[in-house]
Amino acid sequence: MSIEAFPESAGRELQNLQLRSNLRAATDTIRLKRARVVAELPDWDELRDAGRAIKADVLARLDDYLVQFESEVTAGGGHVHWARDAAEAGTIVTEIAQAHGVDEVVKVKSLTTDEIHLNDVLAAAGIRAVETDLAELILQLDGDWPSHILVAAIHRNRREIRDLFARTIAPGITSDDPADLAEASRVYLRQLFLRAKIGISGANFGVAETGTVCVVESEGNGRMCTTLPPVLVSILGIEKLVPRFDDLEVFLQLLPRSSTGERMNPYTSLWTGVTAGDGPQELHVVLLDNGRTRVLQDEIGRQALHCIRCSACLNVCPVYTRTGGHAYSSVYPGPIGAILTPQLVGIQNAASLPYASTLCGACYEVCPVKIDIPQVLLHLRAKAVRARGRSAESVVMRAAGWVFRGPRRLAFVQRLGRLGQLPFARNGRLRRLPPPLSGWTRSRDLKAVPRTSFRSWWRQR
Ligand code: SF4
Repeated sequence: MSIEAFPESAGRELQNLQLRSNLRAATDTIRLKRARVVAELPDWDELRDAGRAIKADVLARLDDYLVQFESEVTAGGGHVHWARDAAEAGTIVTEIAQAHGVDEVVKVKSLTTDEIHLNDVLAAAGIRAVETDLAELILQLDGDWPSHILVAAIHRNRREIRDLFARTIAPGITSDDPADLAEASRVYLRQLFLRAKIGISGANFGVAETGTVCVVESEGNGRMCTTLPPVLVSILGIEKLVPRFDDLEVFLQLLPRSSTGERMNPYTSLWTGVTAGDGPQELHVVLLDNGRTRVLQDEIGRQALHCIRCSACLNVCPVYTRTGGHAYSSVYPGPIGAILTPQLVGIQNAASLPYASTLCGACYEVCPVKIDIPQVLLHLRAKAVRARGRSAESVVMRAAGWVFRGPRRLAFVQRLGRLGQLPFARNGRLRRLPPPLSGWTRSRDLKAVPRTSFRSWWRQR
C-alpha cells in the first residue's frame, strides 16, 4: 500500500509552528549532549568501525546466527516463533494472548510492534494493549503516533500533556511540572503492571551465542513490563542479532551516547530463557522478517539493516528537524526512515521518501554504525526513477544529457536561456518561473543564467 507522498505530508506538517519550535528545542538539546559525550571517547571512531563490522558479519551469516539463537532460546526454556510478515506476527501474538484468556496486555515501547500495527491487531481480537513508555502512553491516550524514534512525543509540550492527562488518566491535575506528570503516569501504570498477565516487548539486541534478549530504556517501565507479568512475548526483527555476548560491549557504548547523549542507559535489561521463581515463567520470542530478507538481497540497501535505532541521524537532519516524523508517514522517520521504509514496503509504494534529504551527509557523520545513508538514498532514487519508467522527468533528463554532450548545443541553449529569462530575472535571480518550472521557484530562487558563459570568458582571454 502506498504511503502519502513526502512533499504533501511535509507541507502540511511545516504549517505547525508549535511542532517546529518543540522539535528545534528538543533536537538542539539532544544533539549538543551527544556531541559532548562522544567527544569524551578517544576511540569513538574505532567503536563505530567495530559496530559496523559486527553488523556486517551478522547480515552475512544471518541464517546461521538465527538458528543458533533459536536453539539457545529453546534450550533456556523459551519458545521461538518465526513470522514471515506482519499478519503472521500479529496472529502469533494474538493466539498466545487468547490461549491465556486475557483481554489486556502491557507493552514496552517497540518500533517493531508499531511496524506490524500490533495494537490494532490485538484490538480487533478484543485485547487492549496498553503502552507503558511515558511518551508512548501520551500518544496512545490522544490517538496520536510517534514522530521520533526515541522521543516519541517530541512534538508535544508539557502543557498539552497536562491537559491530556486531566481529560484521561489524572482528572483534576493542574500542574505541568514534569515530576508531577511523571507521578500521574506512574500511579496509573502501576496498577496495570501489577494486574497484567502478559507483557509484550521489542528488543534492541538478541545474542545468538546465548539466546539472550536485551532491551535498553530510560524509565524502568520496560523492566516492569518484562519482569512482572508471568508471560513475556518479545518481538525481534531478524536483523537485531549480535553473534556474541561480548559484542554488547560495543553497542551498549554506541547506543546511549548516540541516542540520549548519556554515557550509559539508565536501564539495560537482559534475559535468557526462563528462570524458575524469577520473572516471567513463559517466554515467547517472535522473529520477524516482514521484508527484511528482501532488503538483505540488495548489496547497497542492506546497510539499512545495520541500524540500532539510536535516532542520532534524525537530530542532525535539516529536513527532519523542520518537518518532524509524521511527514514520513511511517514508524521509521528521518534519514533512516527515508532509506528503510521504501525497502520494506517496496520503492513503488514510498518513492518520494529517498528525496526527503538534502544529501548533506550529516546523518552519515553521526551514525554509530557508519551507515552510508547518502549512498543508499542515491541508490534508492535511481531505483525510484527506474520504477517510474518513462516520465516527464526522464524525458527532460535525456534531453539535458543530449545538450550537455555537445558544446555547440550547450552554448545555443544558454543563449536561449538568457533570452527566455529576461522577463523574470531581477538582480541575477529568478524569483518566479511559469509552469512547468514554477515548482522550483515556489519556495526558493533560481540563479539566473549569467550574461557570459565560462567558455566565452575563457576565449576572450
Ligand atoms: S541510521 Fe544510524 S544514526 Fe540513524 S537511527 Fe540508525 S543507527 Fe542511528
